[in-house]
Amino acid sequence: VRKPRVVVLGAGYGGLITVTRLQKQIGVDEAEITLVNKNDYHYETTWLHEASAGTLHHDRARYQIKDIIDNNRVKFVKDTVVSIDKEAKKVVLENGEVEYDYLVISLGAHPETFGIQGLKEFAFGITSIDSARQLREHIEYQFATYNMEAEKKDERLTIVVGGAGFTGIEFLGELGNRVPELCKEYDIDFKKVRIICVEAAPTALPGFDPELVDYAVNHLQKKGVEFRIGTAIKECIEGGIIVAKDDQMETIKAETVVWAAGVRGNSVVEEAGFENMRGRVKVDGYLRAPGHDDVFIIGDCALIINEEINRPYPPTAQIAMQQGEVCAKNLAVAIRERGEMGTFTPDIKGSVASLGENDAVGVVFGKKLVGTKASFMKKVIDNRALLMVGGPTLVLKKGKFNLL
Ligand code: FAD
Ligand code: NAD
Repeated sequence: VRKPRVVVLGAGYGGLITVTRLQKQIGVDEAEITLVNKNDYHYETTWLHEASAGTLHHDRARYQIKDIIDNNRVKFVKDTVVSIDKEAKKVVLENGEVEYDYLVISLGAHPETFGIQGLKEFAFGITSIDSARQLREHIEYQFATYNMEAEKKDERLTIVVGGAGFTGIEFLGELGNRVPELCKEYDIDFKKVRIICVEAAPTALPGFDPELVDYAVNHLQKKGVEFRIGTAIKECIEGGIIVAKDDQMETIKAETVVWAAGVRGNSVVEEAGFENMRGRVKVDGYLRAPGHDDVFIIGDCALIINEEINRPYPPTAQIAMQQGEVCAKNLAVAIRERGEMGTFTPDIKGSVASLGENDAVGVVFGKKLVGTKASFMKKVIDNRALLMVGGPTLVLKKGKFNLL
């Protein structure tokens, strides 16, 4: 008989945890495991704000997938998923096709642009190594060009960040460290630089502890960030954005606009015809797509409801990794057709937002932390993710040891 074919799409947190756990749980003769990922490397999505600002080289935030998986047990295919045909049980890739008996979709998120005009054309995102490299280079180019022009264009030194969610805030924290360095390097007066954060909600970090929000906003303001709270980005144009506050429209000239105002599930999920909310599928307790017992969906493509408040859990690496563990276990049960599948319940240990190199805010195990203590915790969390995926060797190779 043919061995069941397990195909895992995406080698992010969810996908890599699934594969590294599954390769240990089942024997070579029990199933064929294939992992498909766009690149031959995994990147730490949770570190992309650093690579985007240029405070951490992008090579520090990625590692080779072949060094993590058991290559005798897992076939790695470097290719981009184009579409999923769930009836024919196959995945169409840019350069071929793969058939599956069990599918895991862990393709991560795409930016949510809410249909706002001009964002796709003119704004940068914090989404991948490619985007991080481009954004870092773009900012640096603006600083490098400023003094070259007879007529100085101050908008070259204006950076707008759309959204003061965790991504926006963490990126602003990095800019707070990076911009003074750029000013020094390119002989630019810091006073000429503007870093503007535009947030539509009545507060930065909506839903987060108000005391910690105040700390974050104050500390970022001290680093030169201007906050426009209760102000929505309405349109992105070449060389700037149009914002609105209480029906008052304003154009802000800026050569750098970064859209960090939300995410949705990977568009492949929506296009495959799964019932979804913003590209995220409300999976059953075993992490399967409703009506498709052969398809597991985890990470940012999955929607899990927090019953206590009847709202979805925010998509995080923390949840994606926990889901990967359960998914591997459930795949082993499905492959063997024996045993009992486990149900997934998130175990939220807390959340910490970095505010640059040595500063952060967060709640860990119910305890509020700020400053160097929170920053220390953030690095411990970053190292823990490496440990979970690749063990101590990966921590030694890629870990953050400048703990204080
Ligand atoms: P990802 O880890 O993003 O992986 C998706 C993978 O799929 C990638 O390797 C990608 O290359 C691949 N892929 C995508 N499309 C295709 C395709 N068509 N074909 C082939 N391969 C494809 N969460 C936390 O818990 N803590 C944090 O501190 C934190 N910080 C964050 C900081 C930033 C700047 C950002 C943007 C997010 C942060 N998050 C954090 C959220 C967290 O990164 C995501 O929830 C998490 O990465 C989701 O894991 P995933 O496995 O679903 O997707
Ligand atoms: P988010 O949805 O959490 O925040 C987006 C922000 O943009 C919101 O505050 C929203 O009000 C604002 N916004 C939306 N439309 C706008 C508009 N037109 N103009 C101005 N502002 C607008 O998105 P995110 O920050 O990218 O985070 C995505 C997920 O990743 C979340 O689940 C988050 O928890 C997670 N994450 C976690 C960490 C961490 O734990 N350190 C860091 C980054 C991201």
